[in-house]
Amino acid sequence: MKNARRYCYGPFQSRRLGLSLGIDILPRSKVCTYNCVYCEIGHTKPDYLVSPEYRVQDPPSSTFQKELKSRFEYTTTLNSITFGYNGEPTLNENIIDFLEIAKEERDKIDWRHGEPKLTLFTNSSTLYSKKIRDRVKNFDLILAKLDAGNDDDFKRINCPHKDVPSLETIIDSLVKLKEEMPKENKLAIQCLICDSYKEDFISNNNDRNISDLAHAFKKIKPNLIQVYSIARMPANYFVFSIDDERKSEIVSIFRGIINDDKIEIKYY
Ligand code: SF4
Repeated sequence: MKNARRYCYGPFQSRRLGLSLGIDILPRSKVCTYNCVYCEIGHTKPDYLVSPEYRVQDPPSSTFQKELKSRFEYTTTLNSITFGYNGEPTLNENIIDFLEIAKEERDKIDWRHGEPKLTLFTNSSTLYSKKIRDRVKNFDLILAKLDAGNDDDFKRINCPHKDVPSLETIIDSLVKLKEEMPKENKLAIQCLICDSYKEDFISNNNDRNISDLAHAFKKIKPNLIQVYSIARMPANYFVFSIDDERKSEIVSIFRGIINDDKIEIKYY
């Protein structure tokens, strides 16, 4: 018998989101435009490392609504309904159909501590497309990845598919997204910095990258910057987490260069 399609995972306690219900809208195991060295769900298999133009045609089945109803029945204290977890969710052509169903079901509930945010994790690689930006800006909170401030670090850390645009284009799309978003919705940049045991692998924890990142954030003007590191088993054995002292130092460097009190910068 074919395994039934499953969309909802958790809820889990998340360091950055509180109590979060995970939503996976990709039909197979991980499909992504990146193969990040630190990925906590393993390597991207060669056939599933896809172009940012690749689209998954997979509208929500009735199971999605049923799963949400049953989770919400027992969990009326969620902080976030979070799209992501298993690759790049913006590759699903039907992402807005999923969002509308989640919004509809969320709005039916009398939440005990305020309604949960509809949150999207994206690796930012598809945001050069206006069509994709017009979709993602409907989420209450967008958590967009930016681990590198220049193409050298980007290629080493995120190992993008060959069709992924340059980092300059990605930064420019984040600038556009922030300008186009409704003011009530928030853009957070997730910035994972790691170290390396391997002598011939320079991690993104280097002075040039930290400074380039800060200059990129200054242009993007996100609402929040989240600096964090590896917390689970990474895809490659040779990368490891930076400590809290270094995270705090990076936050200070960012604050110094960005020099904008409206941008909140935190480490986790
Ligand atoms: S973008 Fe996310 S899912 Fe894709 S390889 Fe990187 S960490 Fe893994």
